[in-house]
Amino acid sequence: MVKNVTVTVSDKDGQKDIKAEVVLMAVGVQANIENLGLEAIGVKTERGFIAVNEFGNTNIESIYAIGDVAGPPLLAHVASHEGIVAIDRIAGKANHGIDKTNIPSCTYCQPQVASIGLTEEAAIAKGHKVKIGRFPFRPLGKALAIGETEGIVKLIFDERKGELLGAHIIGSEATEMIAELGIAKALEATWEELHNTMHAHPTLSEAVTEAAGQAFDVAIHS
Ligand SMILES: Cc1cc2nc3c(=O)[nH]c(=O)nc-3n(C[C@H](O)[C@H](O)[C@H](O)COP(=O)(O)OP(=O)(O)OC[C@H]3O[C@@H](n4cnc5c(N)ncnc54)[C@H](O)[C@@H]3O)c2cc1C
Repeated sequence: MVKNVTVTVSDKDGQKDIKAEVVLMAVGVQANIENLGLEAIGVKTERGFIAVNEFGNTNIESIYAIGDVAGPPLLAHVASHEGIVAIDRIAGKANHGIDKTNIPSCTYCQPQVASIGLTEEAAIAKGHKVKIGRFPFRPLGKALAIGETEGIVKLIFDERKGELLGAHIIGSEATEMIAELGIAKALEATWEELHNTMHAHPTLSEAVTEAAGQAFDVAIHS
């Protein structure tokens, strides 16, 4: 087994060697849209992806594109959802289309990381006055019971309407917990609705209701 690795990298300051035990390399992903004859029939592309609307229609309405070829985020659940939306559209069924502001983004590392919607910075940049709620895993009975006390839920709300704008979780089961916040965001739930929804004890999701209350200074366990 290799014990040490030397990686030679080049950046604006020149070339340098970095010694490490392990190298994790993440290569980029690009759409495989060459040699499909898109140019010949005039299907529009943008930055290497096929340009589509929220229903998957290209500029030639009867031609659809879904999945990685139709642009970021390049994720399996996005591809699958886009497929359903496009088929509904073709079959003449009502469908809201893809809402790119409501796509869960999950990293299956330890601790897990999961997000949906806007970050605090993005919400402010969009002109929202925000209220932020945070709740750590450490005081949660479930976190103590399963020995997973490292973690936090952060929720971003619009101050005026109270609407959930974004949610970010780091910790055990973060990729499972993000689902309820996806529903909350899709239904334009407010901090009050999240805070007043009874969450079972002991569960990690108690951090969601606590963070919602914390944002508007009514948390019981802050
Ligand atoms: C290593 C890795 C890990 C990943 N992990 C995750 C994850 O944990 N969660 C997640 O959400 N996403 C993950 N993804 C991304 C996810 O796999 C893709 O977003 C998803 O597969 C896209 O689906 P798709 O149908 O658009 O494309 P694909 O799944 O790539 O399917 C395209 C198909 O078209 C075929 N094809 C290509 N060209 C032609 C042609 N000319 N004629 C006929 N057939 C053709 C290909 O062979 C392939 O079968 C991962 C990707 C990689 C590479």
